[in-house]
Order: sequence, then C-alpha cells, then structure tokens
Amino acid sequence: MIYIFGNGIAGLSAAVSLTKSGYKVTVITKKITGGSTYIAKGGIAAAVGSDDSPEIHAKDTLRVGDGLSDEKAVNYVTSEAPKAVKTLEEWGFEFATDLRLEGGHSRRRVLHKTDETGRDIYDFLMKKAKELNIPVVEDELLAIKTENNEVKGFITRNRGEVEADKIVLATGGYAYLWKYTSNQSTNTGDGIAIAFRSGALVADMEFVQFHPTVTNLDGETFLLTETLRGEGAILLNDKGERFAFKYHEKGELAPRDVLSRAIYTEYLKGRKVFMDLTKIEDFENKFPVLTAYLKRHGKDKSFKIPVFPGAHFVDGGIRVNLRGESNIKGLYAIGEVSDTGLHGANRLASNSLAEGLVYGVNLSLYIDKWEGLYVDDGEIENVKLHAGNNLSLDEIREINWENVGIVRNAEKLNKAISIYSSIDMLSANEKSNSALVSYLTALAAYKRTESRGNHYREDYPYKDDKWKKRIYFQISK
Ligand SMILES: Cc1cc2nc3c(=O)[nH]c(=O)nc-3n(C[C@H](O)[C@H](O)[C@H](O)COP(=O)(O)OP(=O)(O)OC[C@H]3O[C@@H](n4cnc5c(N)ncnc54)[C@H](O)[C@@H]3O)c2cc1C
Repeated sequence: MIYIFGNGIAGLSAAVSLTKSGYKVTVITKKITGGSTYIAKGGIAAAVGSDDSPEIHAKDTLRVGDGLSDEKAVNYVTSEAPKAVKTLEEWGFEFATDLRLEGGHSRRRVLHKTDETGRDIYDFLMKKAKELNIPVVEDELLAIKTENNEVKGFITRNRGEVEADKIVLATGGYAYLWKYTSNQSTNTGDGIAIAFRSGALVADMEFVQFHPTVTNLDGETFLLTETLRGEGAILLNDKGERFAFKYHEKGELAPRDVLSRAIYTEYLKGRKVFMDLTKIEDFENKFPVLTAYLKRHGKDKSFKIPVFPGAHFVDGGIRVNLRGESNIKGLYAIGEVSDTGLHGANRLASNSLAEGLVYGVNLSLYIDKWEGLYVDDGEIENVKLHAGNNLSLDEIREINWENVGIVRNAEKLNKAISIYSSIDMLSANEKSNSALVSYLTALAAYKRTESRGNHYREDYPYKDDKWKKRIYFQISK
C-alpha cells in the first residue's frame, strides 16, 4: 500500500496515476476541502500554444526565479507540463479552448476551465478517485517513523502507528502562517516539519510569495487576481490617491512583490487601501466568481473593496529530485510541500499547479526505482530543535507578519528567531509544526543578507552574487 497525504492537485493526481498503473493507494488528508488547490483561481501553465515551446516557458521561469531556480527542474517541468495536461484530458478533464496571458509569461500559456480552475481540477480528481475506488479519508499525519534513513511507517491522529515503506507527502505549503494570507487554515507546513524531524533536507524556506491584493469580507477570504488590474481595476488609498505610480512606473501592473511592498508601505503610513472596479467593462461576465462573492456579502461592482497583501505561496520545502524523492528512502514529496528548485527565489504565476500535476502524474513511473536525492547547490546547516512553551497559531501568525513579512531586516528577524528559540518544535501537533517551519523561515531569511526574488531585506536592498546558492537545513542529531 502506498500512503499519500493530502488531496490537492499533487496528491490526487499521484493517487489516480498510481492506481491506473496497478498500485494500491490510500489518500489521507487533514481536511477534505482544505488546501490551496480547492481555492486556486487562474490556471495551469503549459507551453501548448502554437507560438510557444517548453524552452520559452523555461526561459520565463528562470527569469522570474531570479538566479536560484534549478535548471534541471525547470527544463523537466516545462517539457513535462504539456504531457501532464494531456494526461489530465485523457482522464476526462476539459479545459476551455483559450489560453490566458499572466504576469511574467511571454506567451499565452495558462490553461483554465472557469475562473476557479483549481477547484474544477479538484472536483474532477475527487470524482475520478471515487470512480477508481481510491479511499480519500480525513485524518492527520503526526509523524513519520524511520530506521537507518528509511521509511518504516507513520503515525496519524486516528489510526495510530501504521507500517509502510513508501509515503508520499502532498500536504501543501505554510502560507497560512502569516496574519494576512490567501491560504486556508490547513496550510501550516505539517509535512515539512514532520519530514524535517525525521531527517529530511529542507531548502529555500526564506522565499515566501505575498500576493498584493487579498480581501476578506465578513470572514471570507478572497484573492483578487492580477487580471482585474489588467482589465482596469485601480488601487486607491483612503485619501482617494491612486498611489501605485509613486512606487513603480507600471502602477497597478507593477510586479507582485513591488506592489505588495507598496500597499504594505501605505498601511505603515496609516493609510487603508481599496480596489476600485468601476472602470472594468463587462465586469459581471468577465468575473462571475468575484461578482458572486460580492453578492454574497451584499455588494456589487461599485463597492470599493478593502485589500491587503497576504502570504500566498511558499517556494521552499522538502528538497526532492526530479522523481519527488527526498534524502530519506521511501519518502516522496510532491506539490507545494516540496522544493524541486523550479521556483528558485520567486514563482512564475500558474507554475505551481503545473508542478504539482507533473510530479503527481509522473510518480507512477518511478515509484519502484529509488535513486534518492543528491544535492550540491548550497550549504547544509544543522539545526537543533528543542521542547518549550507553546504559542497559539494566531500568535505565530502575528510574529511572522511583523517580523518575517514583506519587508525584513536583521533586527526583526532576530526577534522572531529568539522568540521561536524558546518554543516547542518537537511535538507532533500543528502548533509545534508551525513554530518549526516559521523558525526555519526566519533563520534562512536572516542568513540571506541580500534581496532576491520575493525575499526583501531593507538592510540589504540589493542582490549579492555570493548568495547564488540554496540555504539547506537538516535536523542536528
Ligand atoms: C487563492 C489561491 C489561488 C491560487 N491560484 C493559483 C493558480 O491559479 N495557479 C497556480 O499554479 N497556483 C495557484 N495557487 C497556488 C496553488 O494553488 C498551490 O500551490 C497548489 O494548489 C498546491 O497543491 P498541493 O497539492 O501541493 O497542496 P494543497 O492543494 O494545498 O493541498 C494540501 C493538502 O494537504 C492536506 N494536509 C495538510 N496537512 C496535513 C496533515 N498533517 N495530514 C494529512 N493531510 C494534510 C490538506 O488537507 C490539503 O488537502 C493559488 C493559491 C491560492 C491560495
């Protein structure tokens, strides 16, 4: 039996592909409707257009990755993405016929179905899993058991100890751990923390992507996509100023990280920020999901939506090779929980669903041919973990937002590191997992004395070639 943890695009596509290849799988997930795939909007990047090629897609990915993408992973994902998308279609999924253009892409290559494509894929794969009699059950992974660097089993909340020699982690990222976020509360980095305690190498933890325009009406979080700004939405502060041009010549169409910093700076000045949709033509037809969201909250296009930048995606995680293999025999990581090296210092829009699908669909090709991870592109630091007090998730989210957020400096990062240094990181629970991944993020962000990709240090506001390498962490035994 192969145990897969997580039912997002990575876990479910792996489950379907493995089952179709004759393997027995069980999918275990903390919450059936949890994760980011369930709420993902735009679509999947794949070079399927007649004017496009995997090489051009790779070039765009490398540019956005800002010198830290692993070229092997970039070439692999960009050349496999069209095939993985085709496999999804052969299983019965139907994409719309048009391709969308998104920021950072030099070609129209974002496949979508509606403007909730992540959810469409999730619904489809859950249906497929049911047809194939794949059990998808709610339970929570707490720990992985290893001996001599090999997987021997795992522990979950409901099942207790289970023997296993192959575990696939598809538990998503940890962007929920910032006070402002686009993520669901399931995304607390459990897989990364649990694997780390078992000896897995993790890398690139400092690279957290913040989305500039997230909103929350009456407790319901909603991501306001770039396309809105492309179609004419503008940003205003509470003085009525269209402030974005003060920060970048492209105004509202500035790169994500620049716009996130701009809005964050307005907030630091005591301003509030709103999105004005009134200039968008044919709004209801172009954006039915946002229209429905506004309607649910008694609003329409004329409502000036309060927006804030929120943690959205994490580039780093469990370091794996092209097969999704970690450095622990039998332990695989796919999707956002993993660090394939594809995103480097920043993620190209719509590359994460592509990455999850490629590694998920292709897992069946390699599952019986273990090679193991080999790394030579960075320095490994051993980290000692300790028992201690607990912090609530809200406290952790506040600390990360204030100190490990959009604009970082040594003083703030040191503060976070010293707080986490006295917090329990060894227990098998969400709070301890959250403290551990937050600690590693703060440590990596402190170490990286430069600004690159989505990691911005106001005390080192430039790139430094000596940092063209990955920061790895491993538990000190
Ligand atoms: C609002 C939003 C919009 C996005 N839009 C796009 C987009 O248009 N295109 C794109 O490419 N990317 C997009 N992204 C990013 C993308 O959605 C994610 O990177 C991707 O869906 C991750 O898929 P995954 O399968 O790795 O994990 P997820 O879909 O996050 O699933 C993780 C799963 O793990 C489970 N889990 C967590 N912890 C445990 C545990 N301890 N035990 C058992 N199960 C556990 C959860 O229940 C969940 O089912 C978006 C993200 C957000 C938040």
